[in-house]
Amino acid sequence: MRRALARAARAIDGERRARGVAIDARARATTTTRTRTRDDGDGGRARARALATTPSREDDGRRGEIAIDRSGLRRALEGRARAGDAREEGTRGGLLGHLERAMKFAGGSIPVSEYVRECLTHPEYGYYMRDADVFGKKGDFVTSPEISQVFGELIGVWAALQYEALGSPDTLRIVEFGPGRGTLMADLLRGTRKFAKFRDAVSVHLIEVSPALRKTQAKTLRCGELETTAAEGNARFVVPKNVLEDETDATGDAGGSSGDAPVGEAHTRGKSEINDAEVFWHDGLESVPRGPTLVICHEFFDALPVRQFQRTERGWCEKLITIDSGLVAEDGEDVSGESSGASRRDLEMVLSPGPTPASHMLVSRRLKGIPKEKADSLRLIELSPPSMTLWDALVDRIEKNSGAVLAIDYGEEGPLGNTLEAIKDHKFVHVLDSPGEADLSAYVDFGALRQIVEEKPQSGVKCYGPVTQQQLLLSLGLVPRLEKLVENASSEAQADELVQGCERLVGDGAGDPESGVAPGMGSRYKAIAMVSRGLPKPVGF
Ligand code: SAH
Repeated sequence: MRRALARAARAIDGERRARGVAIDARARATTTTRTRTRDDGDGGRARARALATTPSREDDGRRGEIAIDRSGLRRALEGRARAGDAREEGTRGGLLGHLERAMKFAGGSIPVSEYVRECLTHPEYGYYMRDADVFGKKGDFVTSPEISQVFGELIGVWAALQYEALGSPDTLRIVEFGPGRGTLMADLLRGTRKFAKFRDAVSVHLIEVSPALRKTQAKTLRCGELETTAAEGNARFVVPKNVLEDETDATGDAGGSSGDAPVGEAHTRGKSEINDAEVFWHDGLESVPRGPTLVICHEFFDALPVRQFQRTERGWCEKLITIDSGLVAEDGEDVSGESSGASRRDLEMVLSPGPTPASHMLVSRRLKGIPKEKADSLRLIELSPPSMTLWDALVDRIEKNSGAVLAIDYGEEGPLGNTLEAIKDHKFVHVLDSPGEADLSAYVDFGALRQIVEEKPQSGVKCYGPVTQQQLLLSLGLVPRLEKLVENASSEAQADELVQGCERLVGDGAGDPESGVAPGMGSRYKAIAMVSRGLPKPVGF
C-alpha cells in the first residue's frame, strides 16, 4: 500500500515538475497521435500499432493541396444509379445507399460534416446508435471517467465550487451533453451527495442521441422505473431528435429532417438512487427548464461534425464527399491526403470547383480571430459549425440563467487543418472506409470556441482556457483524493489500479506498447470553461 502511495506521489510530483517546457515539448511530440484512448484488450499493442501508422497532421496538410475538377460528377452518379449499383438497405451497407441518395439530392456531393453526422448519428446505421457498448473496458475505447472514479469526483468538486460561486441557489440544473455510459455523472452525484445544499438543489439533464446509451445511462445512474410522456408511450427511448437537427450553421444549411420533440419538455425522467436527484433526458438544450445551469461536455465536441476547407488559386474551396466519381488526382492521391492507390473505395473526397457559401462565411469568421501573418500562411482549415452553434447557445443560456460551462476534450488552440480520423476495431482506418462502423472524431478547435464568446462582449460571459487536463485535475485536488482512496484500498492490487488510473489521467508519457502502458492524457486533453457575468475565474483556470 505504502509503495503504491509513494509511487503516486512520485508520479504526480514528476508531473508537477514536468509542467512548463518539458510538457510543451511532449505535447508537441504527441499531438500527431490519436488521443481518444482505445482499450484493445491486447495489452495496448494494437493501439500502439495503430498509433504508429497514424499519418502526421502536417503531412496531411501538405499532401492535401490538390485541386480536383468535378465536372462530369453528376453524370458519373447517374450512371451508377442506372446500373442499379446502390447497396441494399437493412445492412450496415445501407448507410452507403442513404449517403448516395443524399449526394444525388444535393447534386453529386455532400460536405464532410454531413457525412460525419450520418456516420455517427443516423437513426439506423449511426456508429453511436447501435446497441453494442462502445465505451468502457469491454468496448471499443476508454474515456477518462471510465479509467478512474476520481475524474467524475473532481468534476463534482468543480461543479460544487461553481454552485457556491453562484450564491448556492435553490435549484441547479446540471446538464451533460453526450454522457456515454453515464459514469461521469454517477461519480459526480456520489462524490457530492454529502454536500446537502447542493444535493437538494440539483436536477440532472442529459442530452443524448443514442437510445441504447440512454438506457445504459439510466442503469448507471440507478434510475429504476422511468416515466415517459404520452408522446413516447411504452416505447421508451425511441430514437430521440438529434441535437444536430436544430443546427443552422453560418451557411444556412440545416441538418437532418426527422424528429418532432416538443420543446420545453423532456420525454423521459427518472430518479437517481445515488443521491435522489431527478434525471431527465432531453433532445436538446431548449427543453431544459430555466434556472442556474452548469453544463458539462466530456468528449462531446470531438464527436460533432466538421467541415474542411482548402486554399487554392480560386480561393477557399470546400472538401466534399462524393461516390464513385472515378475522379482521381494526377499523382494518385485524393484530397483527403491519403494514397488512393492501394484499395479502391466507394467514397471519394473532392474539392468544390470554387468557394462555397460555407467557405465564405465560416473561414472568414475564423480568420478574423487569428493574427494576419498566421492567417495568410494557412492552407487548410477545419471547422465544426455545430460546435460553434452549440457554444453560442450555451453563452446565451448562461447569460440569461446564470451558470457555467466546462468542456474537456482533445484539441488545440487552433486553427486546425485536417484532424478528422476514424478508428475501427482499435485501428486507424481511412475516414471514408466503413461508414457507420468506424468512430469518427476530430480535434476540438478551442480558439474557435473562445472567439465566439469574444464576439459577444455584451453577454458578460467570460471564457477561460484551454488549460491542460493535468492542470485542471491537479488544481481540483487529484493528489489528496488519490491518497485517500489508496489509504482505504482493500488490496495492493486495487491501490495500484487507482494510482495507474490517475497517472494516465494527468500523465504525459507516450506509453509503452510492450509493457501495455497506455499513453498519458494529461496535456493532450484540455479544458475550456465559461462563466456568467460577475462570476470569478473558475478553479483550475
Ligand atoms: N462523455 C462520455 C461519452 C463520450 S462519446 C465519456 O466521456 O465517456 C460521445 C457521446 O456523445 C456519446 O454518448 C454519443 O452518443 C453522444 N453524441 C454524439 N453525437 C451526439 C449528438 N449529435 N447529440 C447528442 N449526443 C450525441
